Amino acid sequence: MVKIMGMFVKVEINNSKCKKVKNCKICEEVCPVEIFKFENLEENNEIISVIEENEDECIFCNLCLEKCLQKAITIKKLY
Ligand code: SF4
Ligand code: SF4
Repeated sequence: MVKIMGMFVKVEINNSKCKKVKNCKICEEVCPVEIFKFENLEENNEIISVIEENEDECIFCNLCLEKCLQKAITIKKLY
């Protein structure tokens, strides 16, 4: 079966808010379905947040929203 990314749920991180807290990664730790991951951009040594391609597996537990100190995460239902 071909998976279409984020067909029903859109998870977004505001990177400019997120990067105010260096090496936080709390959302990555708390998400039970591993929607968040972080990559190190080699060119400027900046760590950015990346949403994995399994946004539709979000179970709306709200843990990421509650734990993010920067209120950088938004989750939208697309249905
Ligand atoms: S919890 Fe918020 S501030 Fe921390 S890494 Fe995730 S999006 Fe960034
Ligand atoms: S609401 Fe829960 S399942 Fe959805 S992205 Fe946040 S931590 Fe993960």
